[in-house]
Amino acid sequence: MKITMKFGGTSVGSVAALKQVVQIVQSAKNNGHQPVLVVSAMSGVTNKLIAAAHAAEAGDERAAQQARLEIERRHAETTRELLGDSAERDTVLAEVRRLLNEFETLCHGIHVLGELTPRALDVISGMGERMNAPQVAAILRANGLDAVAVDARQLIVSDGRHGAATPQIAATAERTQATLPPLLAEGKIPVITGFIAATADGVPTTLGRGGSDYSATIIGRALPADEIWIWSDVDGVMTTDPRIVPEARSIRHLSYVEVGELAYFGAKVLHPRAIRPARQANIPVRMLNTFNPTHPGTLIDGNIEADGRAVKAITAIKDMSIITIAGTGMMGIPGVAGRTFSAVARTGTSVLMISQASSEQSICFMVKTAESPVVLAALREELARELERRDLDEISVQDETVILAVIGAGMKGTPGISAKVFGALGAAGINIVAIAQGSSEYNISLVVAHGDANTAVRLIHDEFGLAA
Ligand code: ADP
Ligand code: ASP
Ligand code: MG
Repeated sequence: MKITMKFGGTSVGSVAALKQVVQIVQSAKNNGHQPVLVVSAMSGVTNKLIAAAHAAEAGDERAAQQARLEIERRHAETTRELLGDSAERDTVLAEVRRLLNEFETLCHGIHVLGELTPRALDVISGMGERMNAPQVAAILRANGLDAVAVDARQLIVSDGRHGAATPQIAATAERTQATLPPLLAEGKIPVITGFIAATADGVPTTLGRGGSDYSATIIGRALPADEIWIWSDVDGVMTTDPRIVPEARSIRHLSYVEVGELAYFGAKVLHPRAIRPARQANIPVRMLNTFNPTHPGTLIDGNIEADGRAVKAITAIKDMSIITIAGTGMMGIPGVAGRTFSAVARTGTSVLMISQASSEQSICFMVKTAESPVVLAALREELARELERRDLDEISVQDETVILAVIGAGMKGTPGISAKVFGALGAAGINIVAIAQGSSEYNISLVVAHGDANTAVRLIHDEFGLAA
């Protein structure tokens, strides 16, 4: 089988992890598979690069020097352990240094200009992957595996939306098919940089934070692969974030739609857009643990399986703001909802949840807190006349809110799920700020205050017996 295997930041973030990666790839080869690797930056590197770029914009250039030293040391130590004193190590470190020189030069420019453009930020944030793919390929070669690093900017053609680029399917398939099958035919193992892409004109972009998952499914679809395996540091998709509920259990099987909801509503284990390419091409995805490779993890495919559980998982998206537009005059204003959402869309912000009171006297919706000031400004401008005439009251914002999503295909047509959710929270005195049911009926989402979120997740997890 052709298998696209993505290794996340922690899976390539230490000597011990990289030894696991070698084992995993070796065993895939021994089983007759053709692995195509997609790798993230070493854990923490992307955060450091981005923080330094922001610091440079704010006038602090030393952060870039510090980041450079730390990242260089990380790669130097890793390669010393895994490549020894070798020409391979020298080549990897020369590339790391070349990229870090470029990084420092870019940060200097940002510092001088006092401006960090989205385009420059994409170039900087993607450097971790460009340092790591050659490193992982060299480590595999040192272990007798014929690996070759590939820059994803040669394969994934995207639009120009920096920080959240969308791939162009036909162009990506064309380049991928021209590049990868010949390598596989020679018995080589491509090691592709996750997270990064380029426009048709060659302008570098990124697919959004956590985007290496998306790279893996994009490449998987373009190849096409028989399966896509996402290697991370947990035993697959869990019933909820194990950092919130340590008893969270790994889920053996999920459908594409369920995982789509989970990822969209904040389960960090998969990038929100990553499931789409796999679903479109009907390629099974396995979520696996690099540190526990014999665990079966989670299989994701098109089967919507009723396993007797209506609710399968709960997610939380933190740092959200709820924006409410209300006013007794609202009923009389034609198209106010349309104008509201068009104004929001013009800011490029995505709305994660909408709820409208049936009286038509208010509309409320959720956006990321970081994006709420620009959304508010756009709304105040769009609805200036109505606000002035007092047809609408002030547009209000409540920060520090969290969207919880209760997910499971078996919820469709099962009565009483909402009652159980609300009952459990009500009994604990947790106030529900807003509610929405997804049109798929595979999820109920609700909004609670930040301070209540973890307790609410635990209560719902218990209420549906998900730990058992
Ligand atoms: P990687 O670097 O491999 O992409 P991430 O840190 O992005 O890994 O994602 C894995 C992490 O996601 C886990 O360590 C876990 O803490 C977190 N997580 C949040 N929700 C879930 C969930 N429902 N199932 C599994 N992991 C989750
Ligand atoms: N390195 C990138 C990030 O930290 C992409 C990824 O890890 O998936 O966002
Ligand atoms: Mg991730």
